[in-house]
Amino acid sequence: MEKESCTFSYCQKPEIVEHETDILVIGGGMSACGSAFEAARWANPQKMRITMVDKAATDRSGAVAMGLSAINTYMGENDPADYVKYVRADLMGITREDLVYDLGRHVDDSVHNFEDWGLPVWKKAPDGHTMDGAQEAPKLSEGGKPVRSGKWQIMINGESYKVLVAEAAKAALKTNREATGVAENHFERVFIVKLLLDEKVPNRIAGAVGFSVRENKVYIFRAKTILLGAGGAVNVFRPRSVAEGQGRAWYPVWNSGSGYALGIQAGAELTMMENRFVPARFKDGYGPVGAWFLFFKAKSTNAYGEDYCVGENFESTKKLYSPYAEKMGTAIRNHMMMLDMKAGKGPIFMQTAQAMAELGKTMDAKQIKHLEAEAWEDFLDMCIGQAGVWAGMNIAPDETPSEIMPTEPYLLGSHAGCAGFWTSGPADVIEATGAPKEWDWGYNRMSTVNGLFMMGDICGASGHKFSSGSHAEGRIAAKSGIAFILDNKDFKPTVTKSADELAAEIYMPFETYEKYKTYSTAPEVNPNYIKPKMLQARMQKIADEYFGGTSTWYMTSATMLKEGLKLLAMLKEDAAKSGAKDLHELMRAWENYHRIWSIEAHARHIQFREETRYPGYYYRGDYLAINDKDWKCFVNSKYDPATGDWKCFKKEYKQLIPD
Ligand SMILES: Cc1cc2nc3c(=O)[nH]c(=O)nc-3n(C[C@H](O)[C@H](O)[C@H](O)COP(=O)(O)OP(=O)(O)OC[C@H]3O[C@@H](n4cnc5c(N)ncnc54)[C@H](O)[C@@H]3O)c2cc1C
Repeated sequence: MEKESCTFSYCQKPEIVEHETDILVIGGGMSACGSAFEAARWANPQKMRITMVDKAATDRSGAVAMGLSAINTYMGENDPADYVKYVRADLMGITREDLVYDLGRHVDDSVHNFEDWGLPVWKKAPDGHTMDGAQEAPKLSEGGKPVRSGKWQIMINGESYKVLVAEAAKAALKTNREATGVAENHFERVFIVKLLLDEKVPNRIAGAVGFSVRENKVYIFRAKTILLGAGGAVNVFRPRSVAEGQGRAWYPVWNSGSGYALGIQAGAELTMMENRFVPARFKDGYGPVGAWFLFFKAKSTNAYGEDYCVGENFESTKKLYSPYAEKMGTAIRNHMMMLDMKAGKGPIFMQTAQAMAELGKTMDAKQIKHLEAEAWEDFLDMCIGQAGVWAGMNIAPDETPSEIMPTEPYLLGSHAGCAGFWTSGPADVIEATGAPKEWDWGYNRMSTVNGLFMMGDICGASGHKFSSGSHAEGRIAAKSGIAFILDNKDFKPTVTKSADELAAEIYMPFETYEKYKTYSTAPEVNPNYIKPKMLQARMQKIADEYFGGTSTWYMTSATMLKEGLKLLAMLKEDAAKSGAKDLHELMRAWENYHRIWSIEAHARHIQFREETRYPGYYYRGDYLAINDKDWKCFVNSKYDPATGDWKCFKKEYKQLIPD
């Protein structure tokens, strides 16, 4: 079929806004806010321009949108070297220890800033009792002792966490406007569709293009460096919640794989994209379990009240996954839970009532009341939908246990996952630890595309950064990005395509829809285009059934992957025939396109790694065990934008911190 193009014969032509900047921050979440905050400090004296673009409203965008109850990475009295060991164990032995160590040594400064900006942090009173953030206590930076829910986690009153972090970023952007005289440098509700490579300098970033999700406008940004923090990918696999529960997911529904797709299409090298995260969460509501496990010491059991991580389950797990089985990381615990589910010993319950009763033994009535309020607030902070499910099902968590369930898979690299881009590491750590020299190509967190930096969920092989670590990583990337600009002072970004060509590409789904919408009586069903909802369902079906989603108990194999990738290639082709009736659907169409690239990378990596590195997250039925001899290495890949070729290859893993 002849490829059609948008000539604006059917749809309205958008206003085109061109914006020139030095540092372009894409995203408005934790890492992006960290980068804007840090960039201003170094850029303002140099009169360098910073611009931030977020597809949503930055006050409540990204994974921390609803607030959190705990900051999951805070060193305090802990040694960053121990943090590396913990991350390595949870990620089944393979992680970029230079990046993780670097994060560990910087993260506390971000947490101290959060507290200075007004975030209430729980403290231990001198007599050992717990004070929530409302009570007067010395700050962490002044020696205040945090209330830890685990070795690395600290409790907060975090309803407004994201608002506070955004406020600091916005204030920093304001100082940059004052320093540079630029009128506008924070664009909200602008969805970035693709990155632009430089016309003259090979493998060099030059800008990005996107559109307003509220107004008829296309934005073209020219930039000397880009700090990319557009989050991971949700809704790539068919979710457990369909139909009546559609839209519910654990990972935030607005992170649609843009972070991955933007970098992949620009040719940035990926690492560990085979990794995914399958959290065990409260069934149907997807409510967080962390505080229940860590803070309230709740246990999860099978339907008979038995621990599923012992006995025969543990013995069989050791046979396939030793020495990682013994470390009891998140994936391994998921695996053993699924063994019981498959053996018909489900449902699996979080014993919330038991935990509350246990805690009650050491507390007075007032303290118990406070604890109960906290238990509820944990959900109201992060996942109000869970409170809705409980209310609707007559569940009082202090009286009744609740079901937990492994969710559909998500792609991310800052929580308990590590899928992302391969970046340059911190030179001093690489030097001091004897890490491979090739891990340092000059600018910390720069991808293999010059001037393109990665942060948060999309900086690979370095999970467990969480909210605080993503903020700190944004700051690291910002500082390096500025050094990169200063070292390449004469560079002027040049973009190959004209503004009209770029706008036409972005508005293609409008043109298609307007041209053909009268070909059928129901505009949703049409032989000439595919609406975003249908395309998404098709993509999720492919991922679920061929790449190891919930319907196959996360099982896949070389033959399944091959078949699925064949179907995905056809879907990608069909995505060019997306139809959109309004700006919202235009965003949905481009979100789906980004998801397709993300899931393709994921499948290609799983296909290449011939072992089951992450049992409990996915299984290669044809290689069911872990095979350290051949696969204790990074799997990297690279899409070549010039030729369209995609290559997967091994990269040496090196342990830097001794056990
Ligand atoms: C359910 C859940 C619970 C969590 N709980 C905790 C916790 O208790 N404690 C803790 O410390 N951490 C927690 N985390 C981890 C923490 O939220 C993340 O580590 C952190 O938010 C990642 O930062 P980021 O900048 O990479 O992405 P995000 O903060 O998610 O930001 C992504 C940004 O990109 C923007 N964006 C996406 N696509 C585009 C596009 N195409 N164009 C422009 N902008 C775009 C989004 O609007 C958003 O602003 C949790 C995460 C999840 C998902």
